[in-house]
Amino acid sequence: MNLQLRSPSSATGEFLARRHGMMIGGEWKQAVSGQLCDVIDPGSGKIVAQVPNGSAEDVDIAVRAARGAFENPSWRAMKPNERSKLLWRFADLIEANLDLLAEIETVNNGMPLPVAKVGHLASSIDLIRYTAGWPTKLTGETIPVSAPGEWHAYTLRDPIGVVCQIVPWNGPLMMAVWKIAPALAAGCTVILKPAEQTPLSALLLAELALEAGFPKGVFNVVTGGGSVGAAMASHPDVDKIAFTGSTQVGRAIVTASAASNLKRVSLELGGKSPVIIFPDADLESAISGVAAGIFSGAGQICTAGSRVYAHRDVFDRIVEGVATAAEALNVGYGFNEGVQMGPLISSAHLDRVSSMTNAGVREGATVVTGGEQISSEGYFYKPTVLASLRPDMSVVKEEIFGPVLSVLRYDDDDLDRIATEANSSVYGLAASIWTRDFKVAHKMAARIRAGTIGINRHFVGDSALPFGGFRQSGWGRERGREVFDSYLETKSIASPL
Ligand code: NAD
Repeated sequence: MNLQLRSPSSATGEFLARRHGMMIGGEWKQAVSGQLCDVIDPGSGKIVAQVPNGSAEDVDIAVRAARGAFENPSWRAMKPNERSKLLWRFADLIEANLDLLAEIETVNNGMPLPVAKVGHLASSIDLIRYTAGWPTKLTGETIPVSAPGEWHAYTLRDPIGVVCQIVPWNGPLMMAVWKIAPALAAGCTVILKPAEQTPLSALLLAELALEAGFPKGVFNVVTGGGSVGAAMASHPDVDKIAFTGSTQVGRAIVTASAASNLKRVSLELGGKSPVIIFPDADLESAISGVAAGIFSGAGQICTAGSRVYAHRDVFDRIVEGVATAAEALNVGYGFNEGVQMGPLISSAHLDRVSSMTNAGVREGATVVTGGEQISSEGYFYKPTVLASLRPDMSVVKEEIFGPVLSVLRYDDDDLDRIATEANSSVYGLAASIWTRDFKVAHKMAARIRAGTIGINRHFVGDSALPFGGFRQSGWGRERGREVFDSYLETKSIASPL
């Protein structure tokens, strides 16, 4: 444990002390109600800033600004290569402000500073640059028409329009960038709603987007709680909601869309991702991969490998190895040197993780290591490994979204039965397979019902690899070429010659 509180730099201190506004129509605005909400550092439990607490009225103003910008020729008629240049400039400005943005992520989310820099910031910059290559390649097709006569028929791909993007707190900047970059590349206008716990990096992103040269109103940010997201989902002039968060809220957004204007919806939701370890696996790398798969981000990662299936021959060694890795982890305040795992996001979330783990213990799970809160300051929870599990237990079925791993033993050698067990979840976001036998690995990968599968690595993220879920893990894909299906409408045009 390394809980001593080191302060961020003076630049971050100055940013935190600002009178923050929401970015609407290219200007900083306070909430119509004048209300503010507190922003808390989860590593200390202390208030570090305040931001406007938006409401439906602010959403309405932002929608009008985004609609105006969408219709304005300065954006609607902008050449695709100009949109590329703006995105590239945006990436350059983020890179120039990398240290400040990383510190903001650490102070607001609690993640260790190197994780913020190398994981979140660097990969977000890479994603924007990858996306900057796409505007000139979003083409339609010429279509051979079979109706009598001669035809010229083709498709155009139009931007979907005004897009509201609602993101969670676990990767505040990265989750925002995954959504903003492709929407802007496609020619949409955006209203971003960061999570109420982590609004700060979104505000700096808005400032940098304006500096990069995006016309006013193309990228807006409204801060506030769930009621802001709900107002977006039911707004009659919003064309699409792109959402990352819980399955429960995803469902509410679909209902609100259906009850209002049938706006398009894409969803990145929860997961309970299986990790399947075969007896021939390189156990050393499997153990460190399992530990990284569940303890990165303190388990607050939708792809977390939270459900391990270990073959009977290696089960004991896996449990022991991961427990040893858990105990060796340096948990602490994200600014402190050498810290590998930070706090949970809030006191409410700490209670949730703790009560879900305790429920598992009441159902018969044994705690191999962890299973308790760490200090009274900040929201730290010990990296935890649970065993003696049955498939019907809540800790095996439900997403805990904390550093809590369930390890189950399997006795079977039949691939179909192992796959059935791994697939027995309402989710289908990620999975990993650990074996030296690539025939087994690829056969298994074909049988697993999940959007992202790692072989001998739990999660492989790349700007070009599509990401998203099967079943209740979501609708649609982010990143890669597939993301543009979420931000473009296809239009058929035909004329007899
Ligand atoms: P959450 O669903 O409570 O909140 C996410 C966002 O939705 C926040 O911005 C919140 O203000 C907003 N919101 C809340 N109520 C709303 C409503 N009625 N209408 C519209 N918006 C509303 O989720 P959370 O607790 O902040 O995040 C944890 C969840 O997010 C986990 O279940 C996790 O799996 C999921 N998640 C998924 C991914 C992914 O890519 N699949 C990534 C990160 C997190």
